[in-house]
Amino acid sequence: MRKPIIAANWKMNKGPRDTEDFLNTFSGKLGKLTAEADIVVAPPFVSLTAAVAALSSNSAVAIAAQNVSEQDNGAFTGEISTMMLKELYVRYVIIGHSERRTLYGETNAIINAKVKKSLEAQLKPIFCIGETLEEREGGKLEAVLRSQITEGLAGIEEKEMKGIVVAYEPVWAIGTGVVATVEQAQDAHAFVRSVIADLYTQELADKIRIQYGGSMKADNAGELLAQPDIDGGLVGGASLEPQSFLDLINAAVK
Ligand code: PEP
Repeated sequence: MRKPIIAANWKMNKGPRDTEDFLNTFSGKLGKLTAEADIVVAPPFVSLTAAVAALSSNSAVAIAAQNVSEQDNGAFTGEISTMMLKELYVRYVIIGHSERRTLYGETNAIINAKVKKSLEAQLKPIFCIGETLEEREGGKLEAVLRSQITEGLAGIEEKEMKGIVVAYEPVWAIGTGVVATVEQAQDAHAFVRSVIADLYTQELADKIRIQYGGSMKADNAGELLAQPDIDGGLVGGASLEPQSFLDLINAAVK
């Protein structure tokens, strides 16, 4: 039985003040939800300290960063290292989000280096993959997902894989209001799990949690998470207001 994992990706929204306000309201209303799902919030880097202060380091809500450097330290202007994140009690890091791939030129090789660096530091990667509409319509869905997984996870051993969460996010569904049908999402998730089984073992593949991302909301989260291979969500727009994110989590775990 895989425990659902629901993560808020705030992207470039919410400075420290808004982060604190959100988390004070949100954590006060969570109740028993943290027993039913792992809940993760990914604010921008500058708001991580405020998030830690609002939640405290042992809170049931985990904090994620939205990116990390593949370097240790040194002359890399504007970058943030795994060790800096560890110092802030960050537990997860989103790696390979489609916006990082398309707007900032992150390749599978860069993403692979970031995943490795994060695992070395005991940060849990939320490893994002997903196809564009053109790739899907051109019949390339499986080839794209297979190469993102194979190259993005190259050199990662089975025992390290236990620290990884995979997020399947069809690019055409991110921030567009167009959600994949439950069949499209389930088929893609089952395929992702089969690729992990091919690369590692079925036993490992059965344990890996695969989140769906792409216009997930309270009114579609329940049916998506009811699918056998959908183990959670990576949520952008619907995570920006405490009540909307709470409604989504409630719908997802019911
Ligand atoms: C995301 O940012 O990963 C995402 C899925 O965004 P949205 O929920 O807004 O589509």
